[in-house]
Amino acid sequence: MEAFRFNRASTLNQAIQSAAQSTTAQQGAEVRFVAGGTTLIDLMKLRVERPKEVVDINGLALDRIESTPTGGLIIGALAHNSDVAHHATVQRDYAVLSQALLSGASPQLRNMATTGGNLLQRTRCVYFRDTAHACNKREPGTGCSAIDGHNRMLAILGTSKDCIATNPSDQNVALTALEATIQVQGTKGRRSIPINAFYLLPGSTPQRETVLEPGDIITSVTLPAPTPGSHSLYLKLRDRAAYEFALASAAIVIKVDNGKIHFARVALGGVGTRPWRSLEAEAVLQGRAPDTATFRNAAEAALKDARPASENGFKVELSKRCLVRALTMSVQPA
Ligand SMILES: Cc1cc2nc3c(=O)[nH]c(=O)nc-3n(C[C@H](O)[C@H](O)[C@H](O)COP(=O)(O)OP(=O)(O)OC[C@H]3O[C@@H](n4cnc5c(N)ncnc54)[C@H](O)[C@@H]3O)c2cc1C
Ligand code: SF4
Repeated sequence: MEAFRFNRASTLNQAIQSAAQSTTAQQGAEVRFVAGGTTLIDLMKLRVERPKEVVDINGLALDRIESTPTGGLIIGALAHNSDVAHHATVQRDYAVLSQALLSGASPQLRNMATTGGNLLQRTRCVYFRDTAHACNKREPGTGCSAIDGHNRMLAILGTSKDCIATNPSDQNVALTALEATIQVQGTKGRRSIPINAFYLLPGSTPQRETVLEPGDIITSVTLPAPTPGSHSLYLKLRDRAAYEFALASAAIVIKVDNGKIHFARVALGGVGTRPWRSLEAEAVLQGRAPDTATFRNAAEAALKDARPASENGFKVELSKRCLVRALTMSVQPA
């Protein structure tokens, strides 16, 4: 790990002003916030992230989990993943989020990891994490070692000729199905960014993963009030039962009324370059009977644009089966 300056922010404004000195809020940022450190410190040890200054934001009062006046929920950016997963309101009204968090990492990591840090965790592409290899995300313009290399874990949706890395988070898939909004504060004030507009596709600039600008700090995530009578569920398929990232996952929020699907929200994990909302699957489900034929049609629609690489063709069918299974489980009586 290279030498860096370490600052402990005592106010939000101090943190924002420090980070605003950076030329980017993305890969290569000279100033980085640290929350749980489970992504950042890892990548600094590997010399993938090399900030000149690290700003510790753990002293800021951003860890609360509170109901909103409209029946929704605010989750502070510094709320730990374990606290969110075990929060009574999350377990009752947003089960998909609790299940997604508990399916990730290990209890020790979840005790450290935060909501904001999880939103910005980096890909597990082996070439991104190894500076001996070319990687457009880590060093723009150097090439992508994964396209003709080891890409079994990587994305099949939203890829480009410059990057096929998967967004590895479980939390972010659940937040996408829940239509969360990311609250950000920066040098120009506050912004509310719907999660579907927060992540960027890699295109020709895979180093730029989100719409964040220098100085922007995530302060919280807000969830809309749950629709009465709706159910939610997270299903994760992986190589082993614990301590492993998703090969395919599905987050569902669904309401069935009088034998018809009243509404459905569908997001896929492990297969997209960003947490993957499937409006196509939702359109197929809307108003139809909740049966296997409908679910299979939704899965076909969700994966119709899949473009596998040399080693991950199996993910197309795996992701379809994951979605069908998750939908089936989500409409079964509790
Ligand atoms: C061994 C291992 C296994 C794992 N398995 C899984 C898994 O199965 N599923 C899964 O989803 N995840 C998994 N993870 C990833 C883990 O969930 C993330 O590392 C964690 O959520 C990151 O949170 P953090 O608070 O530690 O982030 P940090 O490392 O502190 O920060 C991560 C990034 O976010 C930025 N940041 C942090 N907070 C803010 C903020 N408020 N505003 C703006 N920027 C901010 C930092 O500058 C940094 O760039 C695993 C990690 C490890 C090490
Ligand atoms: S897939 Fe993306 S992260 Fe992986 S080597 Fe290619 S450019 Fe880098």
